[in-house]
Amino acid sequence: MVKDPSDFEIQYIKGVGPRRALLFGRLGIRTLRDAFYYLPCRYEDRSNIKKISDLKYGEAETVSGKVVSAGIIKLPRRNLRIFELTVSDGSGLLKGKWFNQPFMKKNFMAGDEVLLCGTVRRNSYYGTGFEMDNPEYEIMNDDDDPLIHTNRIVPVYRVTSGLSVRQMRSIMFTVINNHAGEVSDTMPPELLAKYSLPGLSESLSRVHFPDTQADTGLLNRGRSDYHRRLSFEELFMFELGLAAVKRETVSERGIAFTSGGGLLKKLLSMLPFQLTLSQERVFREILEDMKKPYPMNRLIQGDVGCGKTVVALMAMMVAAECGYQSALMAPTEILAEQHFINIHEIVEALGLNVCLLTGSSRERPLAGIASGDIRIVVGTHALIQEGVTFKNLGFAVIDEQHRFGVMQRALLRKKALNPDILVMTATPIPRTLALTLYGDLDYSVIDELPPGRRPVKTILSQAKQKESIYRLIRDEVGKGRQVYVVYPVIEESEKTDLRSATIGKSGFEKVFPEFRTGLIHGRMKPLEREQIMASFKAGGIDILVSTTVIEVGVDIPNATLMIIIHAERFGLSQLHQLRGRIGRGSHESCCVLLAYGPYGNEAGRRLDIMVESNDGFRIAEEDLDIRGPGEFFGTRQAGMPDLKIANIVRDAALVNDARQEAFALSERDPGLKGYPLLRGSLERFWKGKIEIFKTG
Ligand code: ADP
Ligand code: MG
Repeated sequence: MVKDPSDFEIQYIKGVGPRRALLFGRLGIRTLRDAFYYLPCRYEDRSNIKKISDLKYGEAETVSGKVVSAGIIKLPRRNLRIFELTVSDGSGLLKGKWFNQPFMKKNFMAGDEVLLCGTVRRNSYYGTGFEMDNPEYEIMNDDDDPLIHTNRIVPVYRVTSGLSVRQMRSIMFTVINNHAGEVSDTMPPELLAKYSLPGLSESLSRVHFPDTQADTGLLNRGRSDYHRRLSFEELFMFELGLAAVKRETVSERGIAFTSGGGLLKKLLSMLPFQLTLSQERVFREILEDMKKPYPMNRLIQGDVGCGKTVVALMAMMVAAECGYQSALMAPTEILAEQHFINIHEIVEALGLNVCLLTGSSRERPLAGIASGDIRIVVGTHALIQEGVTFKNLGFAVIDEQHRFGVMQRALLRKKALNPDILVMTATPIPRTLALTLYGDLDYSVIDELPPGRRPVKTILSQAKQKESIYRLIRDEVGKGRQVYVVYPVIEESEKTDLRSATIGKSGFEKVFPEFRTGLIHGRMKPLEREQIMASFKAGGIDILVSTTVIEVGVDIPNATLMIIIHAERFGLSQLHQLRGRIGRGSHESCCVLLAYGPYGNEAGRRLDIMVESNDGFRIAEEDLDIRGPGEFFGTRQAGMPDLKIANIVRDAALVNDARQEAFALSERDPGLKGYPLLRGSLERFWKGKIEIFKTG
């Protein structure tokens, strides 16, 4: 392959060198390409630097001037230390204030030329004069090129200690000025024309150093044409990869299950309930896939408690009837244990052998799995990682997709005879987003809860209100119900001041000597955990004190009260998952979010949403909004390439276009023979994640 100039190492760029190259490395920048795609985190319009005398209160402005004085003011009564910087530009004085950041003082010397950027406020002492609270600042340097840092819309980059924004900007200027013109645009030109997208060189230049006429608002929202072009490209690469994976799977031979349905009928007759319409529809979709002679790859999405597991179990019966083994894989041992406890009775009653296999299983019934005597294996991914051989694994269910990605699925496929794969997730994300992220999967959604479920009543409570919580517990256990108490940590430690499950348990034992209290957490031996869960399920424990190990999958309808200690510390999705453990039977359930103040606004918002809503979709949307997509979807964990530029929420419309075009192109020209450059970019984009082109 011809050496691509974008692969040129950053350390050889003027102004970088080996020492700074290390700092760049920390930011993930090793080559010119990395630098090109390291976009500014925001932009400042400095084409219009104001005179201090012309400032207006309430406006966001940029000012340039000399430091007159820099010092720390103490306000002992409010326990505040304020670093105050006074700047003059000849027309007047401006004060910059930073609260409780005394270390700022060492950054400034009288006489330094500085830029301050922030909202102009009235001086709080005198009621006149200008000041800015926590302004953005930059210290100017005599030998800087003034055209890079002022008199224009300037990019601001996220930097690391040892590298200032200003240094970074200078280097970026060199990189873009000297090298952005050399890049080859690998996007199909017809697509650029169709969507009116600018070329790559131009986009890179303008996204780093915008025109003076550019709209700073659009830039800051990542919505300039140049941002759009780069986002489209990234999404297109992402979707092309998924399209390739999908083609690969579809072109492979898989098992065509043809079931008489005897086992399935028996299973249905043993269930104490009727399937919901959603469950029936989704099962039909699965069955259609299973009958086809190539491997199924389907995602079922549905809120906690909507009954995904039963549907999966039905599909496993079809596989069993056709003589194949099935696996049910969960992300944690405790969830695997739960699935096992939940299904083994009914499965055994149907005459099938089932076993549990996790990293720490006591017995490893490998012989039974190899001989095919065991028909259903429930476990963690120990199931595919360790020396486990199946006789004929034909069907695999993966619970909780967001921790299990494209790569692991590929591994699983290799382990067996191209089994049909069913992925279940309780993260309720909008359909278009699901299609993007799981684009190589077909998609089904269970969008109703079983009848008779009552929404869980949720109460926000402060730590002081202990007595009323004790009363709730006493009432509930008095009615024969059971209670979960969830703690953020197992044991108290020096590092945090959080209450712990271990101490919590002894506390509850003292308050309620008449009740049976149990403790469960992730550091226990699996056997012990299994016994405790089994005992809770059988009604042998009234109050189960736990950590978040019970977050997913645990299904005990008689548990109707959950107290979440330090609820302010948990994420939204996590709270929703936890709360999903109750409200599973016909009795009314209640979740108490016990918060220890003071907590921040964001925590307050999470708690409020939980109190207001039981709707998984709404909660997921809010969570997405609070945490941002990367964190929310955990794409990195799932072995997906990172989206550095596109934001699947902000760019939802682009996602759709990119997806359609990618799948269409992949259909027309699967090996991308007509697009050798694009093919190169694609391979690079997915490198180390999946092998896109196995042949040709
Ligand atoms: P999910 O995995 O989607 O969170 P589960 O499959 O664990 O949900 O089901 C939750 C509970 O609802 C289980 O106790 C299950 O037996 C029960 N259930 C499932 N489907 C129905 C239904 N159609 N009617 C009543 N109860 C159901
Ligand atoms: Mg489940």
